[in-house]
Amino acid sequence: SACRGRCDSAQDVVGTGSNVVHADKANWRTLESYRSAGGYGYVERLRRGDVDAADVLAAIERSGSASSVVRKWRAVRDQHGEPVVIANASEGELGTFKDRHILERDPHGVIDAALVAIAVVGARRLIIYLRDDYDHLYRELQQVINEMRVAGLGADVEFDLRRSGGAYICGEETALIASLEGQRGRPREQPPFPTTHGLFGRPTLVQNIETLYRLRAAWGMRVEASLPVTRLLDPAVRIFSVSGRVCCPGVQLMASLPNIAALIAACGGMTEGEELGGVVLGGAAGSILTAEQCRLPLDDLLRAGIRIGSGSSVIVFAQRDDVRWIAAKMAAFLARESCGQCTPCRVGTSKMAGMLAGGPLDPVLMRSLAEVMREASICGLGRSAGQFLAGAAERLQGSAECR
Ligand code: SF4
Repeated sequence: SACRGRCDSAQDVVGTGSNVVHADKANWRTLESYRSAGGYGYVERLRRGDVDAADVLAAIERSGSASSVVRKWRAVRDQHGEPVVIANASEGELGTFKDRHILERDPHGVIDAALVAIAVVGARRLIIYLRDDYDHLYRELQQVINEMRVAGLGADVEFDLRRSGGAYICGEETALIASLEGQRGRPREQPPFPTTHGLFGRPTLVQNIETLYRLRAAWGMRVEASLPVTRLLDPAVRIFSVSGRVCCPGVQLMASLPNIAALIAACGGMTEGEELGGVVLGGAAGSILTAEQCRLPLDDLLRAGIRIGSGSSVIVFAQRDDVRWIAAKMAAFLARESCGQCTPCRVGTSKMAGMLAGGPLDPVLMRSLAEVMREASICGLGRSAGQFLAGAAERLQGSAECR
């Protein structure tokens, strides 16, 4: 096929769906090799008192990491009561599998940063909240934790590996916490924020996997040529989950991204005989881009007010694909995953799903539904899903797909 040979360099390519079990053991980094690259060295220095929490926070600030990280860590540290740290690997966003990629290759990198967070905020318990479908990772992370226990690392930390129930909404911090408390996974209004009122009322730091993994650059962990995933220690490198009609679907690390077409080219181009039709960019908080938009600089898209959501998931489709079918599938997913507590989100997503499933489209009605959802929903699903679906309907208006 035209794809043959294009993916040879992509030893890091993983399956594109959670049903593709593909933990590449050849890429799995052991505790021994992680430690020989300097891993867990900083947390040991913290324990010995060579550096203190203020030094860590200053190092993170100097590294230019998101200011929200330092703000959250400080907020948790300043509270009374024993804090909890949660590594969020719920990863429910449509077309996203980057956390899985990181955990499959360098799990110690994530746990190392989480142990530093634990030491800084004064916690003793680390919960790893893992997407339900990641069966293989559950078993492998158990092994990693056992390996650490044997080595006497994190001996004063209680590791708690949990599986989500598979709900999309449980990636949202407050829904995640509710599900860990044994309640329905429903988001709640904020404030109070989890940093002050989190798991069972305790100060709680919820941090996602990519953030934890990258943070280690702040205390000197460096990129290793032999392990491509470590390129994430370079702040200029972005990680993308690419699926759909490309030769080499999987995770791509890019140091620069002129446009989405360049990302598709880095994935070996379109599958044989297919012409680019467009992409779903950034999941439910993003947009459906046309092929033409895929060739524009990302900055131009942003300036034009196009929503890119997380910006890291890219589902590629071909000209022959039915965009309305894609939008209807996504709408059905969002309607199913709405937790239902806000009427605008519950009713709006299912009404939009019904409209996209068949019959004439009314983009004006969809836009006004989206506005109500944006203004009156508790969480990001309701606030962004309506915008995404109304945008899709506008894109379809007047096109061949709008039948
Ligand atoms: Fe639940 Fe939707 Fe409300 Fe979010 S916006 S809390 S998903 S009903």
